[in-house]
Amino acid sequence: MKTLIQNVTVVTVDPELGNFPSANILIEDGKISALGVDVSTPADEIMDASELIAMPGFVNGHLHLWQPALRGIAGDWTLGHYFHVMIGDVVCLYKPDDVYIGNFIGALDQINSGVTTLVDWCHIVNTPEHADAAVDALLESGIRAVFSYGTPMSLFGTLEPHPADARRMRTERLNNDDARVTMALAIRGPDFAPGTAAKDIRYARELDLHATFHIACGKLGPREEGVLMLEKAGLLGEDINLVHANFLSDREFQVAADNGVSIAITPEVEMQMALGLPPTGQAVKAGAIITIGTDIVTDVSTDMFSQMRFTLQTARALRNDAIHKNESMPDELDMTAKDVLEFATIDGARAFGLENKTGSLTPGKDADITFLRKTDINLVAVRDPVMAIVLHANPANVDTVMIQGEIVKHKGKLVHADLDKKIEDLKNSSDRLYEQMQSSDA
Ligand SMILES: [Zn+2]
Repeated sequence: MKTLIQNVTVVTVDPELGNFPSANILIEDGKISALGVDVSTPADEIMDASELIAMPGFVNGHLHLWQPALRGIAGDWTLGHYFHVMIGDVVCLYKPDDVYIGNFIGALDQINSGVTTLVDWCHIVNTPEHADAAVDALLESGIRAVFSYGTPMSLFGTLEPHPADARRMRTERLNNDDARVTMALAIRGPDFAPGTAAKDIRYARELDLHATFHIACGKLGPREEGVLMLEKAGLLGEDINLVHANFLSDREFQVAADNGVSIAITPEVEMQMALGLPPTGQAVKAGAIITIGTDIVTDVSTDMFSQMRFTLQTARALRNDAIHKNESMPDELDMTAKDVLEFATIDGARAFGLENKTGSLTPGKDADITFLRKTDINLVAVRDPVMAIVLHANPANVDTVMIQGEIVKHKGKLVHADLDKKIEDLKNSSDRLYEQMQSSDA
């Protein structure tokens, strides 16, 4: 099957290829086989894309996908509220069916806003059935995903090892690293389970998986320097992903970067819930791989356009503020729109070892492509397509989305046979959960 996309503005995020005001993209059997001004060949399907910008689908580097049934509930909450209600009470109310429909609608919401890959940090694995339900939804949604197998909430703060069921998931269901849904381990890490982090990282390595964990977020008293402890134990590497990292010391950032560790930043949640300021500037200075995520749908927006802008402008504001403190003005900005687009695409892929499959529009990679309508009123006359994507676009501009060459959103509409029924299922799940929350209050 050959598809030729013609006359499209292309932002490749590939440093060798750069951008094209107008080019053609050839897709063969789900992969990009050629891209350039002169690409032309007989094809089974021809798509005129002269009104579109093609970009690599976003990689959402960190989110807890199961929560859409309670979207908005935590919009005015602190981290303390969130832990008390969402994690303390609500987690116990979730049945496998609630996890399934939450993950499914969550994944479709991501596709709708131009995400083609997400890292689902799944900490609703109350039972193996909950884990299976989350994976079923990811597989059915069509999205590319890294299912990060977490722990039941009851294990946070304990010395219990990571659940043994992760081994079953790895060997029986997610054993193909070339599949659209792959696996990682979402471990508690040194801040949330001191004493077991090393064991859990070794478990991830035994299963040949990346390990991802929250670290140095919020202030609950003095903190051990977990990154240095893990370095001493020889446990840092390219297969480690740190989430938030707001209060890592400069030394920890440097050690993390030197060992190839990646940092996931979720700026909107970090600023709302007092996790700390997004540490983008420090991570860039250390040379770390940075990914951006939306994190918590019960709190904040789920689209990567918003998160890119929070990331960029917060980093700029912090640096500008430091210069103001010397009664001066910046001569130039040291973080660019292009940098942030890389965090949201290729660097997100790199953090989980997917850079040979996705994250840029490069011949040989899978055709994970997001198309934006550059003729929409908010994008008309933006000369530079990178500026259009990072500073002006929003999910309403996402016209078409392709994952491995398969169209999952077409001309502004999600393509899924029983989506209306699934939306009803989410509403029913939401009603049941709210009702039970209220009766447990009473
Ligand atoms: Zn998180």
